[in-house]
Amino acid sequence: MRVASSSTALAMARCWFGLRARGAWGQGLSVLCGPARPGSSSCASAASGEGAHLLYTREHYAVRASLRKIIDKEINPFVDKWEEEGQFPAHKVFKTLGQAGFLGVNKPKEYGGMGLDFSYSIAVAEELGNIRCGGIPMAIGVQTDMATPALTRFGSDELKRQFLVPTIAGEVVACLGVSEPGAGSDVASIKTTAVRKGDDYVINGGKMWITSGCQADWMCLLANSSEGPPHQNKSLICLPMNLPGVHVAKKIDKMGMRSSDTAQIFFEDVRVPSKYLIGEEGMGFTYQMLQFQEERLWAVANILAPMENVIQETIDYTRQRKIYSQPVLHNQTVHFRLAELATEVELVRSLLYQAVALYLRGNDVTKLASMAKLKAGRLARELTDNCLQFWGGMGFTNEVLVSKLYRDSRLLSIGAGADEVMLSIICKYMGTLPQKK
Ligand SMILES: Cc1cc2nc3c(=O)[nH]c(=O)nc-3n(C[C@H](O)[C@H](O)[C@H](O)COP(=O)(O)OP(=O)(O)OC[C@H]3O[C@@H](n4cnc5c(N)ncnc54)[C@H](O)[C@@H]3O)c2cc1C
Repeated sequence: MRVASSSTALAMARCWFGLRARGAWGQGLSVLCGPARPGSSSCASAASGEGAHLLYTREHYAVRASLRKIIDKEINPFVDKWEEEGQFPAHKVFKTLGQAGFLGVNKPKEYGGMGLDFSYSIAVAEELGNIRCGGIPMAIGVQTDMATPALTRFGSDELKRQFLVPTIAGEVVACLGVSEPGAGSDVASIKTTAVRKGDDYVINGGKMWITSGCQADWMCLLANSSEGPPHQNKSLICLPMNLPGVHVAKKIDKMGMRSSDTAQIFFEDVRVPSKYLIGEEGMGFTYQMLQFQEERLWAVANILAPMENVIQETIDYTRQRKIYSQPVLHNQTVHFRLAELATEVELVRSLLYQAVALYLRGNDVTKLASMAKLKAGRLARELTDNCLQFWGGMGFTNEVLVSKLYRDSRLLSIGAGADEVMLSIICKYMGTLPQKK
């Protein structure tokens, strides 16, 4: 299912990211990746040459290196300020990312994407993990891999030109409207309705926890478009957020993901043209479940670099911090624990790459994606908690990455399906989930 051949992708990467053939490429991969860090397996793998990585080629590393430059120059210097302000300027950041091609690496070229396969999206998600907070990567992921997969796969050409093209270009901000005040884990029980009246759908109800909801220009909305069985009565609709009757009720104050705005939104007789329906009416639940697979794989990829960075920064800190005349790191309980955590990160990485490789070959990876998301969420909690402890009082301040990720990564076990939802899916595939009466 790889969309572009190796040589085509290489040419595209050079062209899109402005790498000079005899510059960066000629000087070897250390230029692209920067110096390999002890905790980073990715660049080490690249350095061993083509084919040394299970999923990534030189082109993937080229994409990551170009993205890293934007992160280091346009995003990381401002993270603390945006975290403090409780919102990052999504339009500005997305414009920069869109112009460089990073909002549509696996989207079709005819709509402004790079036409590459999903492994490139995973590579981008991994690199975005080097942003020094969780909120901004999450909002970028909503734009690229949560609000747009169904539109890309099932939307009409007209709809894609109207909503997907500007989203990939970074000219507009997208959000995903699934959760409601009374329905999060149980997606089938949402109450928002889209009632057909003439050429319009009339939307009533409300959505909760909407990432980028305060800044978004359009929402990929899941609503009940008819009566009937809850898995067959839903539709996905592109909803412009500037329509009369769309009310952003409040920006939710959260313990983490501070720079990402999260909104509660109400709809009061909002009239949307029926041609804004994505794919077929009544297929929304199925489309959303498919969309969730890419969202979950993306989320797992996105937590790898933060976990590695926290381990590495903990090594650096505990190596120079002395207690009883010896570095904290020299205590066996500390360096053994860090080794165990690094091992667990590699296990999650292996599971992710296995799931992505199978997904690229057209397999149903729902079980593996759920397992990876479950394990990644639990490990992120354990890892940030363990590492924070080794920092002592410093770990309790807002000045260090570990405390920010301790708060931000907590969401991974809740959002996009809580751990218990992942367990239910895994049980379903194992044939052990009791049938509902
Ligand atoms: C910062 C943030 C950003 C978000 N962004 C978006 C977004 O952009 N768009 C969107 O649509 N949603 C978004 N969400 C919503 C998120 O997906 C939901 O919070 C999540 O699905 C859980 O739903 P809930 O909060 O309603 O919890 P509930 O459904 O009330 O579940 C509460 C708890 O019940 C437990 N539970 C659930 N199922 C079972 C079970 N079968 N067995 C045992 N226990 C169970 C779990 O521990 C769960 O955490 C976001 C949430 C947050 C916090």
